[in-house]
Amino acid sequence: MAEILKGKPIADGISEQINQKRSLLQDKGIKVKIAAVQVGDDPATAYYVKSQRKQADKHNIEHQHFKLAPQATQSQLIEAITELNKSSSITGIILLTPLPEHIDAWAAQTAIDPKKDIEGIHPSNLGLLVYNRQRLAPCTALAAVKMLQACGVDLVGAETVIVGRSAIVGKPVALILLERKLSATVTICHTGTSKKGKLIEHISRADIVIAAMGSPEAIKGKWIKRGAVVIDVGVNQVGDKLVGDVEFEPAAERASIITPVPGGVGVVTTRLLMLNAVEAACWQNGIE
Ligand code: NDP
Repeated sequence: MAEILKGKPIADGISEQINQKRSLLQDKGIKVKIAAVQVGDDPATAYYVKSQRKQADKHNIEHQHFKLAPQATQSQLIEAITELNKSSSITGIILLTPLPEHIDAWAAQTAIDPKKDIEGIHPSNLGLLVYNRQRLAPCTALAAVKMLQACGVDLVGAETVIVGRSAIVGKPVALILLERKLSATVTICHTGTSKKGKLIEHISRADIVIAAMGSPEAIKGKWIKRGAVVIDVGVNQVGDKLVGDVEFEPAAERASIITPVPGGVGVVTTRLLMLNAVEAACWQNGIE
């Protein structure tokens, strides 16, 4: 039976890092302040903002919610983002999704100053990953890697299969794992892999499986190689339950380590958003 790798102890370790860096900034008279920008009234977004604020309060980080009307235009949104970019008191910006259909999400997201992009999803920040010059990386991708590092698994040359190739999870996880200091051997699977019936083949030879596909329990437990490490990034609502992309119980029978859903990667992700917030303030002020 696998060891269940919970997110909380790892998140608590990240909190220590956040508090250390935040007090270093405080000693220099620098305050960390996040601006969360929302267009419209999506209720799920309101819930997300509340949980962000709770995390910010816990780490003595200021958090301000900027709400634009649902009918706000593209140029009004860009104007608001430009003001936040210019503001010396705002050190981090989050553009909340979903955005209304009339908004060009790419234009809005890329309008954020990369040094204030605490979600780490601006093309400049993703580009830095390609060059091994990571500054602000996407929190979920970082969380998956942090969990692997926390369990002490030897990544060098490890056959690592990532399922999912999104810009915020699958691809950045691959880029981080390819960094020379980690040096995993990475395969990325996607719907093309499944269409050719090759997903099982890849998963069953993997030392490490990172599931980020958004499909409830689509990865069957019996596909997992005995002793493999399974990081389940997926969060899927099934009835009143949250489940991952991996069929948990049968996978836990075969894996050596597995992350639970909920209580796994998600907990680490939200904490890393706060770490990115302090890292961003450091970057803006030339602090390494
Ligand atoms: P996307 O929908 O953007 O990407 C899903 C990826 O999975 C795509 O690349 C898609 O392939 C691939 N995929 C889907 N179905 C299959 C299949 N049957 N076989 C092979 N590949 C498949 O999702 P995200 O990357 O944004 O998120 C992935 C999961 O992670 C979701 O469950 C999401 O809820 C969760 N998540 C969790 C977070 C956390 O903090 N724990 C934070 C962010 C996301 P293709 O490109 O070919 O379409």
